[in-house]
Amino acid sequence: MRYRPLGKTGLLVSELAMGCMRLPEDSPDVAAQTVDEAISSGVNYFETTRGYINGRCQHLTGGGLKGRSRGLIVSGKAGVTPDTTADSYRAEIELQMQILGVDYLEFFQVGWFSLDRLELLTKKGGALEALRRAQDEGLIGHIGFTGHDTPDNFTKVIETGIFESLTIPYSILNRSYEPTIKRAGELGVGVVAMCPVAGGVLATPSRRIQELIPGGVRTTVQAALHFVLANPDVSCACSGMSSVEMVRENVAAVNSFDGVAGADWLAIQKILDDFAALGGAFCTGCRYCMDCPHGVDIPGNFQLRNYADVYGLEDWAVKAYAQMTAETRASACTQCGECEPKCPNKLPIVQQLADVARRLGQC
Ligand code: SF4
Ligand code: SF4
Repeated sequence: MRYRPLGKTGLLVSELAMGCMRLPEDSPDVAAQTVDEAISSGVNYFETTRGYINGRCQHLTGGGLKGRSRGLIVSGKAGVTPDTTADSYRAEIELQMQILGVDYLEFFQVGWFSLDRLELLTKKGGALEALRRAQDEGLIGHIGFTGHDTPDNFTKVIETGIFESLTIPYSILNRSYEPTIKRAGELGVGVVAMCPVAGGVLATPSRRIQELIPGGVRTTVQAALHFVLANPDVSCACSGMSSVEMVRENVAAVNSFDGVAGADWLAIQKILDDFAALGGAFCTGCRYCMDCPHGVDIPGNFQLRNYADVYGLEDWAVKAYAQMTAETRASACTQCGECEPKCPNKLPIVQQLADVARRLGQC
């Protein structure tokens, strides 16, 4: 396992981090073994929060940490609301530590954060006061945030200088935060890339994606993790893992990463830009055509086609299409034509939906 600086914190973080929101709810032993396997493999970052897995996430993680959390980067997380006070946030930090069975958290994340919550966080008597006091008392080491605001807004958030890391989704299929990641690199803010396999989409085979990454990768998961780690401003790839086998697969994928030369990284970016442009030629997902009076999820169907046609994720797209409800599938289009005048890209929606139904509809 290789380690990278986590921004300017002085910490070294394993290239593979563990998201603990996928531990098996009903199998505490398997959860503990999974955390144990990750620690044994050199993973040193564990992302947790109280609410995940029906409130069991930190109980399950704590079972694996068992008195050896010192030296690991264990992270708690809580959001801020208009009702959050310094006292209530302090109580939440203490509660999460108690459930995890730790006397110190290297990181605490302000969760579900957005630019418009900055005022709530920093108000007098608010959560930031609790976080600073917890730092002063040696209960927590560093403050980060996570959320799903726009890239521009998150760039503004990191420019406040409050946070030492940000945790955002980043993958071959979701590169929207790349400008924020670059700015984080300039500012020395650590970047924890979550959803590197795009919620499992990139666990399905795609030769096109595998061929994108130099070095002869053998699986799409490997390609997905290598892509995230090839970004020099990313500190670690945080993957949700639910079993010992999954830890082993992810560890092997990360350990096979041997760096990507700058020229190769630019070449990968160019190919992905071309992919995105190709996808955009079909549908940009703007949703101006919605709602369809007959219930068809127009951009949803076109996204599946993009995954199949552009990224080579045909198997996944066929399965995802089968899982859509009948009325939202392309095959439910009545060809009434109401949507087409609303599309700024002037797409022949009716004809393209018929193509999707033919391509992906095996049910
Ligand atoms: S043409 Fe099809 S997708 Fe468009 S509004 Fe009519 S039923 Fe919906
Ligand atoms: S309006 Fe056109 S581009 Fe926008 S989501 Fe609908 S089909 Fe796609």
